[in-house]
Amino acid sequence: MAAVTTVRLSPPFSVSLPPILRRTQIRKISTSIRFTMDSQTNHPKRIVVCGGGVIGVCTAYFLAKNGAAVTLVEKSSIAGAASGKAGGFLALDWCDGGPISSLARASFNLHRSLSEELDGPKSYGYRTLDTLSLTISETLNENPPSSGSRSSKLPSWIDGSTARSPRTIGTVETTAQVHPQLFARTLISKAVESYGVEIVIGKVERVELEEKEEGRVHSVVLEGGRVIESNAVVLALGPWSGKFELLSCLFRVSGLKAHSIVLEPKEPGLITPHALFLSYYPSNGGKPLDPEVYPRPTGEVYICGMSAEEDVPEDPEQIIGKPESIQALKRVACSVSSHLREGEARVKAEQACFLPCTDDGLPIIGELPGINGCYVATGHSCWGILNGPATGAAMAELVLKGRAAIVDLSPFNPARFVKRTKR
Ligand SMILES: Cc1cc2nc3c(=O)[nH]c(=O)nc-3n(C[C@H](O)[C@H](O)[C@H](O)COP(=O)(O)OP(=O)(O)OC[C@H]3O[C@@H](n4cnc5c(N)ncnc54)[C@H](O)[C@@H]3O)c2cc1C
Repeated sequence: MAAVTTVRLSPPFSVSLPPILRRTQIRKISTSIRFTMDSQTNHPKRIVVCGGGVIGVCTAYFLAKNGAAVTLVEKSSIAGAASGKAGGFLALDWCDGGPISSLARASFNLHRSLSEELDGPKSYGYRTLDTLSLTISETLNENPPSSGSRSSKLPSWIDGSTARSPRTIGTVETTAQVHPQLFARTLISKAVESYGVEIVIGKVERVELEEKEEGRVHSVVLEGGRVIESNAVVLALGPWSGKFELLSCLFRVSGLKAHSIVLEPKEPGLITPHALFLSYYPSNGGKPLDPEVYPRPTGEVYICGMSAEEDVPEDPEQIIGKPESIQALKRVACSVSSHLREGEARVKAEQACFLPCTDDGLPIIGELPGINGCYVATGHSCWGILNGPATGAAMAELVLKGRAAIVDLSPFNPARFVKRTKR
């Protein structure tokens, strides 16, 4: 068994992590695992999943749990990009009426069952929570506690004097949260330890096709020349899909940069489990912003917003936030609650990351047209943490059985772009 390292967070959170999370390479295939057999060769189906964000991790987990021999290749660290810096907010029915409704519903429910299986509340801060929308105007200096006119709907820690019009937009039945990085790392640890997933740190350069059988995947080639043979390849490269030629010649995936801060208030016990979606009026009279505030059971409060189109840098670790956007989020914190003001809360993180966005706003999930055994799963935009589990489960079914039963993947078929783009 590979050595594990334990990362400790505020009690009771602790999670056993494989050495990948220390950015070293591990190779581990448990001998006790039964793999799905390739009908032609009678060898285990070997599948390479490229990208260790939430989508790649969920895909690797469900593939391996269902019997495939899986290698996951990640160029930086597991959940080191958006999947580690997201809010981790989950909603059952917020996508209802649109093409991702069934994906979101299936995924919300899968999050619940994964949490039961992996002790989610302890290992990655899974919990249900209430969700409010409210309007707030920026208060620049001292934030006097709001007066008697404050709504009884507002939890007491939301004491910003300008907070108004609170509305319940989610309940413990319909909204929940995870700490996204702990979620992805817990899942991959389980996949390594119980289902034999092998993790390789390296950059995937290209996918090679069979010489004998035209249009069939043979292997992936990493930077430096290492070749990993495979029966199937899943490309889950998030916003870097747009930089991978095999994908970028078919469709566009762009990156939308968004900022976040993580605060540690002195008295976390006062912060109730309420996610907040704000209409926020800056003091300079600019147009209202829509930052989000997520208290976490770790005692942290996560705040995100301030997005802009920007080119995605090659290395996820080179992504840094704009100082003015980080300052704006700190002003949001100050305007929402005196407990989140400078001096009352420690700033634990100031960060930025990229949402993977497609031209039609829908994820791209399916087999690439014309390449047998090469699949893609990307473009989840602002709902990748929610939709990771159902994407992974559906992708596992598609790769291993030829058809996804858990979700109808036809709206997400990459072939929808082919008519418009010549290869
Ligand atoms: C501020 C913010 C808040 C968010 N909040 C939420 C939320 O509350 N709820 C929700 O559901 N979603 C949320 N999201 C969206 C969510 O974070 C994304 O949709 C999701 O993380 C995308 O996952 P991914 O695996 O596709 O991409 P990523 O997390 O970007 O992972 C892609 C991985 O691929 C690797 N990679 C790229 N190229 C290569 C290569 N050539 N070889 C090897 N590896 C490679 C990268 O290093 C990276 O680790 C938020 C996003 C942001 C930015």
